[in-house]
Amino acid sequence: MKKQLVTLIHYGELSLKGKNRSLFENKLVDNIERETGGKVTKYRGRFVLEDGNPENLKYVFGISWYAQALRVEKDVETIVAAVLSEIEGRIPNRNSFGVFVKRADKDFSCSSMELENIIGKSISDKFKTKVDLKNPDLSVFVEIANDVYIYFNKTQGLRGLPINVSGNVLSLLSGGIDSPVASYLMMKRGCRVNFIHFHVYSDNKHIADTKMMDVISTMNKYQGNTRIFLVPYYLFEMASLKASNINGYELVLFRRYMVKVAEKIALQNGFKALVTGDSLGQVASQTMDNIAQITKIISLPIFQPLIAYDKQEIIDLAKDISTYELSIEKYKDCCSIISSNPRTKANTRQIEALEKSMDIESLIVQTLELISVIEV
Ligand code: ATP
Ligand code: MG
Repeated sequence: MKKQLVTLIHYGELSLKGKNRSLFENKLVDNIERETGGKVTKYRGRFVLEDGNPENLKYVFGISWYAQALRVEKDVETIVAAVLSEIEGRIPNRNSFGVFVKRADKDFSCSSMELENIIGKSISDKFKTKVDLKNPDLSVFVEIANDVYIYFNKTQGLRGLPINVSGNVLSLLSGGIDSPVASYLMMKRGCRVNFIHFHVYSDNKHIADTKMMDVISTMNKYQGNTRIFLVPYYLFEMASLKASNINGYELVLFRRYMVKVAEKIALQNGFKALVTGDSLGQVASQTMDNIAQITKIISLPIFQPLIAYDKQEIIDLAKDISTYELSIEKYKDCCSIISSNPRTKANTRQIEALEKSMDIESLIVQTLELISVIEV
């Protein structure tokens, strides 16, 4: 076997998952190959990626860490020679080094510690550098498995579960900061996230020219492709303008209308849950009472992964996933229109009376006729 540069990939959480393990592994392999364009070979507890662009592993959920590694034969002399030649260019200017051997193949001729000593001694003999196992300037990792892998830097992966192992959800996406982050967190739990967006335009085709499509493309880096359901909200707007006594209830009514429409779409398409970007107490419409008024009217679970996040944490995450800059771009969102003094404690009887006077059920039926879906 020739020396060969490959990418060694370790997955974390997956190995815990008992009988689902092979399903998860296969999804992860598919996702890695799709993102990088390379070829993955599975070995016990690790994958090896050849060719393709390993840079893109930073978008793949389910990976605990990865490293550019030199693959060599399982033979002590070969390993020592390969380490010495690999560190030739790395060791100058370093004051210390450490060798860390991991032996997955228990039949290998020497123990981890013996091999660490052999490699360590040959490095210090040749380069006169001292050993420091706690805080070395240069770490040399050697992993003995099906073959032997030698590497120097580990890159942390995104962790989480591979896209597609947990099923499809439908995320209510606004032009704001929170809902893209909530969607990202559901992707991280292995969901394929589809989107539904309510907008102020009379025609769905206007959305193609807005930042919303950029938000979706940015998030697609993590899941490849998706669907977005576009919903004009003018029917609701007209009905709410006509309704008397609506003062302060616009937002709760709008949100109930949105989740009901979304629930219908989800059921028609086999999506198993809705997702929103609510964070408890962040704004008046997100008090515990108001959230209850929204979650209790539909049969599907509503996941709100940001419920316990504070705004700064959400912003930091939005910056990490590159949606922040898009989210703060100017956009005519529905909620900026329904700006009122929202009630923090909703009265169920009043809400239901208002919905009856607006004939909300038939509004929902008419709204469903106006929806179009785009594959992105
Ligand atoms: P965001 O930053 O996600 O807009 P927010 O803090 O502005 O959240 P709200 O406006 O109360 O909060 O919206 C709460 C949630 O309702 C949003 O996170 C999103 O999931 C959903 N939502 C709001 N507006 C829309 C919309 N126009 N289309 C689809 N979903 C929406
Ligand atoms: Mg908003």
